[in-house]
Amino acid sequence: MIALDIDNTLAATNPALWRMFPDADRARCHGAPVPPAWFGTESGRRLLAELRPLRGARRAACLLARRARLVYVTSRPPATVAETWAWLRRFRFPCGLLVFAGSSAAKARWAELLRIELAIDDDPAAAAAYRAVGVRCLLPRWRYNADDPEAAPWPRLCQAIDGRTPVSRRSL
Ligand SMILES: [Mg+2]
Repeated sequence: MIALDIDNTLAATNPALWRMFPDADRARCHGAPVPPAWFGTESGRRLLAELRPLRGARRAACLLARRARLVYVTSRPPATVAETWAWLRRFRFPCGLLVFAGSSAAKARWAELLRIELAIDDDPAAAAAYRAVGVRCLLPRWRYNADDPEAAPWPRLCQAIDGRTPVSRRSL
């Protein structure tokens, strides 16, 4: 089973937040000065419903779905369940389970419970939590995770998933 995060992994969440909060620090993983619960409010849910997918993310999810069952593991609040399912359907992401894990530690616990073999998550804290329980984690690349050897833009991650290239330039 493969775990896929949603925000800033499949969905371009930070760019949408930066349009809303132009002074937000773009070098930070969490793109806006709002608490996680804000995403469960009416404004937060509207923003989530309007997100665009990141280029290459759907193709990668389809490649991964040929290999293993998918589970979407998100730190969104559970109040976003309707918008989250609708968004995955709207952009034709492959079928999978949907798990609301409120923290990196919760993501790692789900990984153990579901026997996750591979995780894809942009958040360095989530990547560290997955790795601490022995799960490989790839990161769609952003400024805040660019120093991770397993971070790369989606097209490059797709090639790595396809087995054509290693993820890291350093290991080429
Ligand atoms: Mg994320």
